[in-house]
Amino acid sequence: MPTSPSEPSEPPELSKAPEPPDPSDLAVVGAGPAGLAAAVAAADLGLSVTVLDAGERPGGQFYRHPAPGLGAARPEALHHDWEAFATRASRLEAHRRAGRVTHLAAHHVWTVVRDAATGEWLLHAVASGPGGEESPVAVRARAVLLATGAYERQLPFPGWTLPGVVGAGGAQAMLKSGLVLPGQRVVVAGSGPLLLAVAASLAAAGATVPAVVEASAYTSYARELPALVRNPGKLGEGALYGGGLLRHRVRLLTRHAVTAAHGTGRVEAVTVSRLDRDWRPVPGSERRMPCDALAVGHGLVPQLELATGLGCATRRTADDTLALELDPAQRTSVPGIWAAGETGGIGGAQLALTEGELAAAAIAYELHGTRRPRGIAALVRRRARLRRFAGAMAAAHRPGDGWTGWLDDATLVCRCEEVPAGRVREAVADLGAYDARSVKLLTRAGMGWCQGRMCGQAVACLAGGAPAEDRRPLSCPVELGHLAQLPPSAS
Ligand SMILES: Cc1cc2nc3c(=O)[nH]c(=O)nc-3n(C[C@H](O)[C@H](O)[C@H](O)COP(=O)(O)OP(=O)(O)OC[C@H]3O[C@@H](n4cnc5c(N)ncnc54)[C@H](O)[C@@H]3O)c2cc1C
Repeated sequence: MPTSPSEPSEPPELSKAPEPPDPSDLAVVGAGPAGLAAAVAAADLGLSVTVLDAGERPGGQFYRHPAPGLGAARPEALHHDWEAFATRASRLEAHRRAGRVTHLAAHHVWTVVRDAATGEWLLHAVASGPGGEESPVAVRARAVLLATGAYERQLPFPGWTLPGVVGAGGAQAMLKSGLVLPGQRVVVAGSGPLLLAVAASLAAAGATVPAVVEASAYTSYARELPALVRNPGKLGEGALYGGGLLRHRVRLLTRHAVTAAHGTGRVEAVTVSRLDRDWRPVPGSERRMPCDALAVGHGLVPQLELATGLGCATRRTADDTLALELDPAQRTSVPGIWAAGETGGIGGAQLALTEGELAAAAIAYELHGTRRPRGIAALVRRRARLRRFAGAMAAAHRPGDGWTGWLDDATLVCRCEEVPAGRVREAVADLGAYDARSVKLLTRAGMGWCQGRMCGQAVACLAGGAPAEDRRPLSCPVELGHLAQLPPSAS
């Protein structure tokens, strides 16, 4: 194993060449609900497991919690279902102490390759030390579970780069991990059920939330009645957030969007417009809403760089993102690679926990012939029920094509490379670009530090198409020195 089990977050010495360690049965990438549940269940079934997670503490996005140094007395206060996390985190720790699990925190996996000689998987990661120093690490495993979660979809609008404009999930993350608010008067906008959770948390933490501005109409859930009825727990969750918003007198404006943010040096107000069915702003409906922060996001996008780099097949979801194509055993199309949680489509923490456990059982059966543990049939039913709900949710919040009408030509679309909407439109209208890739080659949109995570969907829409698979050999920026240390078979 690359690090001693008693030192979970200690990265190896800087610039030490990666030593491919003894192989684990299973390498889990990501310690959110899906990865955590899978690692614990796999270790319970007798597998040796290495967990590599970019985060410093397990929990992923949902169970994000304050650093111990912040002295939070009740880290569970901002979560529901904390028990599900606490139980698994303590079981992970018990497995770690017993040497069955190696937990590599602050390790970002940038590529996964198959070793042609042994058939094992080689995972290359960058470990971040306490002072920000980085060092390369390699891990070997017989099977890999990708539980890399999702990131927020951002649709640009004039003023979205002003200080004080943050992601909706980002605002939640600031609160959960740093115990800070993005502002005192925070408009929450975009689309998707996450907005309700974010607004309820911000209001409960003392912020004034003048409105939740939701671009879709919640009435479209009515079309999905059977999926709703089968998921009373999800309806209860919605009611909980709704109750929180009522208590704090937060208005919910559906079929509305923030179409501009204004301010000098920082956001001071936003323009809220009514939308038609295709998310086009209705002329004359604009009104100004004062605020000192805007938390905005248009749903989540599965994080698939490692999977698509490996050639795993994808499917298009009802809200126009790409998710992994998985079989009932959570296998991807690449033998030896499994996936769970948001990588298979956005569905929430409970679904991620369920899929993690199902994947672990399938992997243990495949590697060791371990008999399926009791309760699997119930997990399969639960997954089906939650996936149906996720499909209904995705369909209800699919962005309408008319959102591009929010943009003027000067609005930055790619923040990293500073490419405005006008340049993208020019590439399409005058230079013959026809998709995100050809726009990228002509304008550099998507070539910057975030590698198209922020702008990829917007650029694809402006180019007149849906987001397509973007295969990149590295999932994050990597120093040349680390690349140079790769063994020839992996490069
Ligand atoms: C910003 C944000 C905020 C959210 N807030 C809420 C909320 O308040 N309420 C709610 O109900 N849902 C929220 N969600 C959705 C919820 O977090 C997910 O439904 C749930 O966490 C899914 O679990 P998961 O295990 O699939 O992924 P995640 O919880 O996202 O876990 C993925 C893990 O993989 C790690 N990772 C990713 N790539 C790599 C890599 N290459 N190498 C190593 N590690 C990697 C990440 O650091 C992370 O720890 C939020 C999502 C996001 C993106």
